[in-house]
Amino acid sequence: MPQLAPNTIPVADTSLDPMDREAFRRSAHRALDMMIDDLAGVEDRPVWQAMPDALRGRFREALPREGSDLDDMLEDVRADIAPYVTGNRHPLFMGWVHGAGTPVGMIAEMIAAGLNANCGGRDHVGIEVEKQVTRWAAELFDFPASASGVFVTGTSMANFIGLLIARTQTLGMESRVMGLRGSRVTVYAAEGAHGCVAQALEMAGIGSDALRMIPTDATGGLIPDALDAAILHDWDQGFRPMMIVGTAGSVNTGSIDPLGAVADIARRHGLWFHIDGAFGALAALSPDLKPMLAGIERADSIAFDFHKWAHVPYDAGFLLVKDAEAHRRGFSDVNAYLQRAPRGIAAGETWPCDLGPDLSRGFRAFKTWFTFRALGAERIGDSIARCCRVAARLEAGLRAIPLFEVVAPATLNIVCWRLTGDHDEALNAGIVMDLHESGLAVPSMTTVEHRPAIRAAIVNHRTTEAHIDDFLADLTRITKARIASG
Ligand SMILES: *Cc1c(COP(=O)(O)O)cnc(C)c1O
Repeated sequence: MPQLAPNTIPVADTSLDPMDREAFRRSAHRALDMMIDDLAGVEDRPVWQAMPDALRGRFREALPREGSDLDDMLEDVRADIAPYVTGNRHPLFMGWVHGAGTPVGMIAEMIAAGLNANCGGRDHVGIEVEKQVTRWAAELFDFPASASGVFVTGTSMANFIGLLIARTQTLGMESRVMGLRGSRVTVYAAEGAHGCVAQALEMAGIGSDALRMIPTDATGGLIPDALDAAILHDWDQGFRPMMIVGTAGSVNTGSIDPLGAVADIARRHGLWFHIDGAFGALAALSPDLKPMLAGIERADSIAFDFHKWAHVPYDAGFLLVKDAEAHRRGFSDVNAYLQRAPRGIAAGETWPCDLGPDLSRGFRAFKTWFTFRALGAERIGDSIARCCRVAARLEAGLRAIPLFEVVAPATLNIVCWRLTGDHDEALNAGIVMDLHESGLAVPSMTTVEHRPAIRAAIVNHRTTEAHIDDFLADLTRITKARIASG
């Protein structure tokens, strides 16, 4: 061996670890205390507030060449970052469908970052944790224990992966290499399906023109006869019907497709049955709500988010696939550098990188596992059921105010309403923006039956009936002021 010159550079000069470990420890404890206080004080601050222009300017400063003192940076976080986040931790954040997070989830994120495991593959505890969460998900949805699952960013990605698996199942492994080769595949979903379903078709190179939007009935669920007719029509026209995307909890109104009837149709035509259950699927955690999801156990795959109704910190999307082999066939690819070994760290049959496009990936399974271990499935399920009761109270409260008409009742946890009478429809949006800027509450805008509507999705485990009563009073006051100001 050639003689190496002795290394004279002290490690502390080159490593990125703190120079003074005790000073770091003190700052780290301060950071933790700061975040515990921040969470405890969420309700005392505006739900949302606009960033002042001067502050926005600070985020245009150039790449820092030199480091900064950790305590100074914590002060920046307190003053410039924490007050201006999305607001989804606040009980009156009801816009879109956002999880609220939990203090135990925060600790889980910290631990996961400390461990910094790469969960793309190899033989380590991170892979076991992900497999355990997969079995928990299988148990929850009455799937076989052999089901396969993978963490992804969110349901948008999980739907996309579900689509790719359906394509490989329908057209065979060669479709991974040859593409569609002119095969005119079609996909079916309810009219209220999330926009990411169409986008998945676009990303897959199939094109969103292949998505058939099936009409819905008064409950918002797709009409099975219309689905069946659309599939028959496509077979007749030389298309290749491939996949049905059932919705369990639509983003707009919380509606649920008749999953059992959809499963029958999927089986009859030999189609892949995927479910977008982004938030709604986790209603299965509540024994009271689970019957609404009857038929979900017959799906081939379910996409859902632990970061929505289970409040695991962002992001924690998940795809569960009944046939583990079908899942693997969609993605497995043994490149030389990913070769498995019979022993050592490179051992293991299936790695998460065999189940989706991500190779490097964080320890999302850990924060999910930790949240469920710390809180228990029952408590999370109870908080989900509570959201639905709170939404029912909101609906009842709105019905008692003549200013408003409810246009989508609370199937689960979402209520949509608009001003009654012949007001300018833009007024609804004005009310919503006034509420946002008041910092009192954040509902969002949507369209129901082709007309603008105000929408509240009760997802937050912190939202109580009392919050809703306050909200109804604020809403009425702000609406009257907006009408008066023309
Ligand atoms: C939120 C949502 C999605 C998208 O999920 P992401 O986690 O945001 O990617 C898809 N479908 C429905 C019904 C949703 O509510």
